[in-house]
Amino acid sequence: MGGRAMSDITFDPTRQIARKRFTCDHCCKAIMPGQRYFRVRGIWDGTPGVFRAHEDCEQAAQQWRDYHDSMWDEGCVLNADVEPEDHYWLAVEFPDVADRLGIAVWADPAFPPIAPAWVS
Ligand SMILES: [Zn+2]
Repeated sequence: MGGRAMSDITFDPTRQIARKRFTCDHCCKAIMPGQRYFRVRGIWDGTPGVFRAHEDCEQAAQQWRDYHDSMWDEGCVLNADVEPEDHYWLAVEFPDVADRLGIAVWADPAFPPIAPAWVS
């Protein structure tokens, strides 16, 4: 494989109430029945699929895309794309998301709580 032979297509995202338990595609944790979640249907690399995420995970991903600028507009999946230098921002702005991703910045003595340059 390699390369992107087909362009990705995504349809308008919707916000849904979960009728059953799903797995969040950002943090890999459960979306519980009755919880609102973010859903996008699309075709990625030629394969139709549904992307589901916690609303705050998706908010975090959108902010991440804003910070990381245009070269990342293909998308972001938090559990794959968040780097150690993003942990400070995530723990400050989205502590629940950081917690679900298993990021414990303040508990790690090797991690100085210094904001990266792009956090104002
Ligand atoms: Zn999530």
